[in-house]
Amino acid sequence: MQSIPEKMKAAVLHGPKELKVQEVDVPVPGPGEVLVEVAANGLCHTDVTYYEAKIPEKMRVYPLILGHEAAGKVVKLGDGVEGLREGDNVLLPPVYGCGECAMCGSGLDNLCRSSSMLGGSRDGAYAQYISIPAKHAYRMDPSVDMMKACVAADAVSTTYYALKERLGIMPGDSVAVFGAGGLGLAALNVARELGAQRLYAIDIRDESLEQAAKLGAVTINSQGKEKIFKELKKMSEDGIRLAMDCVGYGSTIAEAFNTVCTGGEVGVIGFTMDKVELRAGNFMGLQKRIGGSWGCPTYLFPEVVKLLEGGGIDFDVLISKYYELDDVEQAFNDLEAGQIVGRAVIRIPH
Ligand SMILES: [Zn+2]
Ligand SMILES: [Zn+2]
Repeated sequence: MQSIPEKMKAAVLHGPKELKVQEVDVPVPGPGEVLVEVAANGLCHTDVTYYEAKIPEKMRVYPLILGHEAAGKVVKLGDGVEGLREGDNVLLPPVYGCGECAMCGSGLDNLCRSSSMLGGSRDGAYAQYISIPAKHAYRMDPSVDMMKACVAADAVSTTYYALKERLGIMPGDSVAVFGAGGLGLAALNVARELGAQRLYAIDIRDESLEQAAKLGAVTINSQGKEKIFKELKKMSEDGIRLAMDCVGYGSTIAEAFNTVCTGGEVGVIGFTMDKVELRAGNFMGLQKRIGGSWGCPTYLFPEVVKLLEGGGIDFDVLISKYYELDDVEQAFNDLEAGQIVGRAVIRIPH
């Protein structure tokens, strides 16, 4: 058995932009929980949202360990845990449903109103250890590099759910992705793995588009351009059936809606409070559909893990930078300044 220290290093938020990397107690796994030695976390815009307290006052929790996109190794089992062993590598979902409500009962625990979120409403994984429900720790083959695979916990799982369940991607589909950041690149990669024939990536940063091209996407730099959908329509012969907004602007959502052909589907996974104007006749007349997607229900995590184990995710395209836990604030600032292509990963020291 691995000896577990009493204290650990963690990035703790004490108030808006008040982050301290400090020593805290190592959590003790309760019944049905496992203690996970965290290997790494992907850095997500949501982390910065919490760091800057750009959330309603009643949602703010202090002190709070941030981080919700993690992979690690099980080092201790709580009472009654079955199906996992010490030494297992696991992927950690960011959101945990209550397990009792109608949403959880229907499998949509991502929509549970009483859910808890790592690094949001409960302590997250910018820490050496974290205790989580064993039934939601998803075992991965040791061949999967946890230092990279951590980004599958959110970026890959979110786009997997959106494409597979919400948009109903079919083999041979064409997919346009607006925004080729961490989420957008993951969307392109997942779409390719789910059988998309043609991929299009739209962004204003050439560095991001270069990465998208490595995944086989035709790219458009939309800087200073309007009506990108016209350009896309010209490029695609039989029209683009699926489009995703991975940025979160009213304008890109409208572009995505105008891009898709008859029978087209639009997925919104970028967050915005913008209002959007869409031609209502296109819902009926062209049978277009638009829908949002929030995270990923845990029932899909075994499929996400399979995708990782099969080598379907090109992490070297998705991840461009690694930071140490001590430099997490620098990573937040770099992300805010638009200096990170794709995802950055925060390494946890041991
Ligand atoms: Zn996230
Ligand atoms: Zn629930």
